Amino acid sequence: MPVKSVIEREARFSAKNYAPFPVVLSHGRDAYLFDVEGKRYIDMMSAYSAASFGHSHPRLVAALTRQLGRVDLVSRAYHSDNLGAFCEALAKLSGLDACLPMNTGAEAVETAIKAARRYGYDRLSIPQDKAEIIVAAGNFHGRTTTIVGFSTEPSCRRGFGPFGPGFLAAPYGDAAALEALIGPNTAAVLIEPVQGEAGVIVPPEGYLAALRRICDRHGILLIFDEVQSGFGRTGRNFCFEHENARPDGLIVGKALGGGLLPVSAFVARRAVMDVFDPGSHGSTFGGNPLAAAVALEAMRLLQDENLARRSLLLGKTLRETLARVDHPAIVEVRGKGLWVGVELDPAKVKAKDVCLAMMRRGVLTKETHATVIRFAPPLVIEEADLLQAIEIFQDALADVHPAHAASYAL
Ligand SMILES: *Cc1c(COP(=O)(O)O)cnc(C)c1O
Repeated sequence: MPVKSVIEREARFSAKNYAPFPVVLSHGRDAYLFDVEGKRYIDMMSAYSAASFGHSHPRLVAALTRQLGRVDLVSRAYHSDNLGAFCEALAKLSGLDACLPMNTGAEAVETAIKAARRYGYDRLSIPQDKAEIIVAAGNFHGRTTTIVGFSTEPSCRRGFGPFGPGFLAAPYGDAAALEALIGPNTAAVLIEPVQGEAGVIVPPEGYLAALRRICDRHGILLIFDEVQSGFGRTGRNFCFEHENARPDGLIVGKALGGGLLPVSAFVARRAVMDVFDPGSHGSTFGGNPLAAAVALEAMRLLQDENLARRSLLLGKTLRETLARVDHPAIVEVRGKGLWVGVELDPAKVKAKDVCLAMMRRGVLTKETHATVIRFAPPLVIEEADLLQAIEIFQDALADVHPAHAASYAL
């Protein structure tokens, strides 16, 4: 079927909640994706960090296939023989005590919200239905009605109210401003250690450690949403490790499923996790044997292939090389590990046009917030491909802004 018809069929029979680029992908391997015509692309998007291990990593595929030959889904009404190993590995990797597995990131965020509120009532004596959670302006934590209720993005919220109370938004990166919002009914602080969807916003150094001290001082919970920043993306297994700011609760997802399956979890200290008793929370698919098998293998891969270290080193190369790209439209290059946002001046170029030009030249990425191009390749990417992607970014800038290309060729 011609590409145009494939795209038209999808458009005709699917919701319009995404505006995908006009490319139809059919297979992938490592840091490459291929379209239906066999054209190869370097993946600088990694499915929003879910494909951190590259596409169809043979060890992940083998782990999933092995498990498919044993048993698929037994439900949490019974024990299964690999759930304990999965939870143990994740608890140990994060330095926390216990896990509650879910499927999507948003579900794990919802789990964290429930845990924080119940902890607030049971342990902090907050009056019933008064618990507050402090979040950050510009946050992205998922798409459920509760979660979009505390988003500060009009496009995420419009028409979806009424929204529940109990959330306060502090400016991101300003620990003192956040502390000023803490009151007698505050149960927790919920923060992304780097704001991904907001445009790869890296908070000032010391912010995470300051949040840890503030939450300790007020006896409230610190919860980090590492759905996107976790599993090596920022150059450490978890971003909080950069500042030794271990949270009381940690939300993980995306790469945990190895890019093969939706696997997420809320991980916490025992005292926090123990607010849940039978019947209080659950998920039909959460922690199923297939998910547990893939997630276990993903965590082993992270260690065996030293991917956090790789992300740290290649991330430095990525930032330094991008910083040398001399173009008047580039406002800022920022990031941590293999996760970089290039902020462009919208008066000079549209980020989307640059992404489309990159696509034509064989690199896939996506703008965020109309002005930022993200560079977040699989952590297994080869350095040569990383450098080639940056060259193609330069060429794409020239495609979109030809007058300028000529001027700096002088
Ligand atoms: C993607 C993301 C989520 C939501 O994950 P889904 O699997 O899409 O529900 C939550 N938090 C952060 C920080 C994310 O990047």
